[in-house]
Amino acid sequence: MSRTLDVDHLVVGAGAMGMAFTDALVDHSDARVAVVDRRHGAGGHWLEDYPFVRLHQASTFYGVASTVLGGRIQEQGPEAGLHVRASQPEIVDYYARAVERLRATGRVEVLTGCEVVGRTVVSRISGRTWEVPESCRVVDAHYLSPSIPAESSAPFSVADDARAVTVNDVVRLEEAPSQYVVVGSGKTATDACVWLLGQGVDPDAICWVRPRDPWMLNRALIQPDPAIYLGVPATTFEEAATSSSLDELFLRLEDAGVMLRIDRSVTPTMAKAPTLGEWELELLRSIGNVVRRGHLRHVERGRLEMEDGTTVRVADDAVVVHCAADGLKNPPLVPVWQPDVITVQPVRAGFPCFGAAVTGYVEATRRDDDEKNRLCSPSRFGNSLAQWADMNVRGTRASMALGAEPDIAEWANTVAVNPARIPPGHASEELDRVRERLAAATAPGLEALTRLMATG
Ligand SMILES: Cc1cc2nc3c(=O)[nH]c(=O)nc-3n(C[C@H](O)[C@H](O)[C@H](O)COP(=O)(O)OP(=O)(O)OC[C@H]3O[C@@H](n4cnc5c(N)ncnc54)[C@H](O)[C@@H]3O)c2cc1C
Repeated sequence: MSRTLDVDHLVVGAGAMGMAFTDALVDHSDARVAVVDRRHGAGGHWLEDYPFVRLHQASTFYGVASTVLGGRIQEQGPEAGLHVRASQPEIVDYYARAVERLRATGRVEVLTGCEVVGRTVVSRISGRTWEVPESCRVVDAHYLSPSIPAESSAPFSVADDARAVTVNDVVRLEEAPSQYVVVGSGKTATDACVWLLGQGVDPDAICWVRPRDPWMLNRALIQPDPAIYLGVPATTFEEAATSSSLDELFLRLEDAGVMLRIDRSVTPTMAKAPTLGEWELELLRSIGNVVRRGHLRHVERGRLEMEDGTTVRVADDAVVVHCAADGLKNPPLVPVWQPDVITVQPVRAGFPCFGAAVTGYVEATRRDDDEKNRLCSPSRFGNSLAQWADMNVRGTRASMALGAEPDIAEWANTVAVNPARIPPGHASEELDRVRERLAAATAPGLEALTRLMATG
């Protein structure tokens, strides 16, 4: 017998987006909400990610608006002076506590191990079912769900006598091979290389199959201090205004210390732009055996068959490490509010948690969907250089629309997940200077990025 969930919102997905949306909605309205996830807990992909993953940004920028994740400065190690970055167990624990907080309001049901099919919730464990009332709004909080190696088969075939593992399983090897083949161009592959080197693997024992080279943001500049953080968009807009191409802009941002690349003899074509520490960069540069022959197609014992038709010799006992899932998705941008569904998407440039939180805040405080869509127009994640530029143009315009609303501006300056926040009473000459630079550079910078996007 199906039970009715007496709720105003059915949030499908208890990952970072679903949790940030619900947290802000519940804190700024009297809405009753059901959050549903097919996984066994909240936290989304973090529940299944590789064990040595860490947030690539300061923890402070991640999570939900009501509860700060992290907030401390590291005192030791290669990132001494930078903010802490939570590990996977810390992130999973954080979301478990966020669920408790939501349940404690008495207005939120969190149902895990359950699938949402249309407007029906079905337990994958007990088979029980729940319906929601006609008036209930469905919230798609998995529209951007990333794919991860642990849950996606490797995009290459492997012969029976060859060895391949996902990045999750590299930590479980019983015996060290004479060579590792790391496959992937993104954050997961850089993490795998840094982890292997940290375990004492010789750089010459790593073969890195890297179809594309990535641009990455300098982590030292993506810190929860507005005088530091706001310098990044200010420099980006200033340099864009006098650049003749996106490649030239990125090279200038590299000279300005904003962007990093592993190999300075190669012009990267990928701009998902995760952050990287200079110490990681040095380690990654120690790997000389980099294969740029397109995607890996097939693995035989002792050789790799590449997309460009060539064959690459590797050790017979080589272990191939799958780090080649698509990761961040870039589905078509849709209006966040539509009659039958609210689709949570990034709003500002990057920082998906703030995007989900401000969407929850706007859902809680505004009545008219057209007005809500005017305030929260969706942005995308970067991938190509042109998509990165588009992300920054859309994200900046959305931030300006949100910032023009006094209540949203006041709220946004109090929430840690907002990377651009200026906490009340936070003032310095340095901050004044960078705000002046940003104010002067934004309009010409947006115009320039739009021009560069068109010309590539
Ligand atoms: C390894 C990795 C590291 C990252 N590091 C950072 C970082 O440092 N900083 C940062 O800002 N971003 C980072 N990101 C990106 C960021 O985490 C994601 O963009 C985003 O937060 C993903 O969260 P999500 O809630 O959209 O998706 P998910 O985490 O995938 O959550 C969506 C949930 O929806 C559930 N679901 C889907 N369909 C249904 C259904 N029909 N019924 C029930 N449940 C359903 C799924 O089970 C899933 O748990 C990282 C991403 C990855 C993969």
